[in-house]
Amino acid sequence: MAETVFSKILRDELPCHRVYEDAHVLAFLDINPISRGHTLVIPREPAERLEELSEEAAAAIGRVLPRIARAVLAATGATDWNLLQNNGRPAHQDVFHVHFHIIPKHADGSGLGVGWKSSKLQDGDTLAKEIAAKL
Ligand code: 5GP
Repeated sequence: MAETVFSKILRDELPCHRVYEDAHVLAFLDINPISRGHTLVIPREPAERLEELSEEAAAAIGRVLPRIARAVLAATGATDWNLLQNNGRPAHQDVFHVHFHIIPKHADGSGLGVGWKSSKLQDGDTLAKEIAAKL
Protein backbone atom coordinates (compact mmCIF):
# COMPACT_ATOMS: atom_id res chain seq x y z
CA MET A 1 0.00 0.00 0.00
CA ALA A 2 1.28 3.49 -0.87
CA GLU A 3 2.32 5.94 1.81
CA THR A 4 -0.44 8.38 2.87
CA VAL A 5 -0.71 11.35 5.21
CA PHE A 6 -2.40 9.00 7.67
CA SER A 7 0.67 6.70 7.67
CA LYS A 8 2.71 9.74 8.67
CA ILE A 9 0.19 10.70 11.35
CA LEU A 10 0.31 7.13 12.70
CA ARG A 11 4.12 7.33 12.89
CA ASP A 12 3.89 10.75 14.57
CA GLU A 13 5.69 12.37 11.64
CA LEU A 14 2.74 14.71 11.03
CA PRO A 15 0.83 16.47 13.80
CA CYS A 16 -2.85 15.92 14.47
CA HIS A 17 -5.34 16.54 17.24
CA ARG A 18 -5.61 13.06 18.77
CA VAL A 19 -8.78 12.17 20.64
CA TYR A 20 -8.32 8.42 21.12
CA GLU A 21 -5.73 5.72 20.56
CA ASP A 22 -5.13 2.10 21.41
CA ALA A 23 -3.02 -0.74 20.01
CA HIS A 24 -5.16 -0.98 16.85
CA VAL A 25 -6.97 2.33 16.39
CA LEU A 26 -6.26 6.06 16.24
CA ALA A 27 -8.89 8.83 16.19
CA PHE A 28 -8.15 12.49 15.50
CA LEU A 29 -9.88 15.65 14.32
CA ASP A 30 -10.31 16.13 10.58
CA ILE A 31 -8.11 18.98 9.37
CA ASN A 32 -10.95 20.34 7.17
CA PRO A 33 -14.07 19.57 9.20
CA ILE A 34 -17.48 19.85 7.61
CA SER A 35 -18.93 20.36 11.08
CA ARG A 36 -17.57 21.00 14.57
CA GLY A 37 -16.31 17.72 16.00
CA HIS A 38 -15.71 16.00 12.63
CA THR A 39 -13.44 13.16 13.67
CA LEU A 40 -11.56 10.47 11.75
CA VAL A 41 -11.12 6.96 13.10
CA ILE A 42 -8.44 4.84 11.43
CA PRO A 43 -6.87 1.41 11.90
CA ARG A 44 -3.14 1.18 12.54
CA GLU A 45 -3.18 -1.73 10.07
CA PRO A 46 -2.27 -0.49 6.58
CA ALA A 47 -5.21 -1.04 4.20
CA GLU A 48 -6.49 1.25 1.48
CA ARG A 49 -10.11 0.15 1.54
CA LEU A 50 -12.49 -1.37 4.05
CA GLU A 51 -12.88 -4.64 2.14
CA GLU A 52 -9.11 -5.17 2.48
CA LEU A 53 -9.08 -4.76 6.25
CA SER A 54 -8.51 -7.80 8.48
CA GLU A 55 -11.38 -8.95 10.69
CA GLU A 56 -9.23 -8.17 13.74
CA ALA A 57 -8.65 -4.55 12.71
CA ALA A 58 -12.30 -4.13 11.69
CA ALA A 59 -13.44 -5.54 15.02
CA ALA A 60 -11.09 -3.20 16.90
CA ILE A 61 -12.60 -0.19 15.12
CA GLY A 62 -16.16 -1.46 15.59
CA ARG A 63 -15.54 -1.84 19.31
CA VAL A 64 -14.55 1.79 19.85
CA LEU A 65 -16.67 3.66 17.27
CA PRO A 66 -19.73 4.02 19.55
CA ARG A 67 -17.56 5.23 22.43
CA ILE A 68 -15.75 7.82 20.31
CA ALA A 69 -19.07 8.95 18.81
CA ARG A 70 -20.55 9.40 22.29
CA ALA A 71 -17.56 11.54 23.27
CA VAL A 72 -17.83 13.68 20.12
CA LEU A 73 -21.55 14.22 20.78
CA ALA A 74 -21.00 15.03 24.45
CA ALA A 75 -18.21 17.50 23.66
CA THR A 76 -20.02 19.30 20.83
CA GLY A 77 -23.60 19.18 22.10
CA ALA A 78 -24.81 17.51 18.91
CA THR A 79 -27.35 14.71 19.18
CA ASP A 80 -27.46 13.63 15.53
CA TRP A 81 -24.56 12.49 13.38
CA ASN A 82 -23.45 10.45 10.38
CA LEU A 83 -20.84 7.74 10.01
CA LEU A 84 -19.20 8.01 6.58
CA GLN A 85 -16.72 5.60 5.07
CA ASN A 86 -15.53 6.12 1.49
CA ASN A 87 -13.84 3.52 -0.71
CA GLY A 88 -12.37 4.50 -4.09
CA ARG A 89 -11.97 7.86 -5.76
CA PRO A 90 -15.40 7.84 -7.49
CA ALA A 91 -16.85 7.22 -4.01
CA HIS A 92 -15.10 10.36 -2.68
CA GLN A 93 -12.07 8.69 -1.12
CA ASP A 94 -9.12 11.10 -1.09
CA VAL A 95 -6.82 9.44 1.43
CA PHE A 96 -6.06 5.82 0.64
CA HIS A 97 -5.85 4.50 4.17
CA VAL A 98 -9.13 3.15 5.61
CA HIS A 99 -10.92 5.75 7.70
CA PHE A 100 -14.33 6.36 9.22
CA HIS A 101 -15.73 9.89 9.49
CA ILE A 102 -17.79 10.74 12.57
CA ILE A 103 -19.70 13.84 11.47
CA PRO A 104 -21.99 15.64 13.91
CA LYS A 105 -25.12 17.26 12.47
CA HIS A 106 -25.62 20.61 14.17
CA ALA A 107 -28.65 22.85 14.55
CA ASP A 108 -27.07 25.38 12.13
CA GLY A 109 -27.33 22.72 9.41
CA SER A 110 -23.60 21.94 9.29
CA GLY A 111 -22.75 18.30 8.82
CA LEU A 112 -23.01 15.75 6.05
CA GLY A 113 -25.29 16.46 3.09
CA VAL A 114 -26.42 13.28 1.37
CA GLY A 115 -27.67 13.00 -2.20
CA TRP A 116 -29.87 9.91 -2.03
CA LYS A 117 -31.51 9.08 -5.35
CA SER A 118 -33.43 5.95 -4.51
CA SER A 119 -35.11 3.59 -6.95
CA LYS A 120 -37.33 0.53 -6.65
CA LEU A 121 -35.61 -2.78 -5.91
CA GLN A 122 -35.99 -4.93 -9.04
CA ASP A 123 -34.25 -8.27 -8.63
CA GLY A 124 -33.97 -8.65 -4.87
CA ASP A 125 -34.23 -12.47 -4.77
CA THR A 126 -31.52 -13.01 -7.37
CA LEU A 127 -29.24 -10.28 -6.11
CA ALA A 128 -29.45 -11.33 -2.45
CA LYS A 129 -28.59 -14.91 -3.46
CA GLU A 130 -25.66 -13.74 -5.61
CA ILE A 131 -24.24 -11.67 -2.78
CA ALA A 132 -24.80 -14.40 -0.18
CA ALA A 133 -23.03 -16.90 -2.45
CA LYS A 134 -19.91 -14.68 -2.47
CA LEU A 135 -19.58 -14.49 1.30
P1 5GP B 1 -11.97 10.93 2.30
O1 5GP B 1 -12.54 11.87 1.26
O2 5GP B 1 -10.75 10.21 1.82
O3 5GP B 1 -13.03 10.00 2.86
O4 5GP B 1 -11.58 11.87 3.51
C1 5GP B 1 -10.26 12.20 3.85
C2 5GP B 1 -10.34 13.19 4.97
O5 5GP B 1 -9.05 13.35 5.52
C3 5GP B 1 -10.84 14.58 4.57
O6 5GP B 1 -12.00 14.92 5.32
C4 5GP B 1 -9.66 15.49 4.87
O7 5GP B 1 -10.04 16.75 5.38
C5 5GP B 1 -8.88 14.69 5.90
N1 5GP B 1 -7.45 14.95 5.88
C6 5GP B 1 -6.64 14.95 4.79
N2 5GP B 1 -5.37 15.20 5.16
C7 5GP B 1 -5.38 15.36 6.51
C8 5GP B 1 -4.35 15.64 7.46
O8 5GP B 1 -3.17 15.80 7.13
N3 5GP B 1 -4.72 15.72 8.76
C9 5GP B 1 -6.03 15.54 9.15
N4 5GP B 1 -6.29 15.65 10.45
N5 5GP B 1 -7.02 15.28 8.28
C10 5GP B 1 -6.70 15.19 6.97
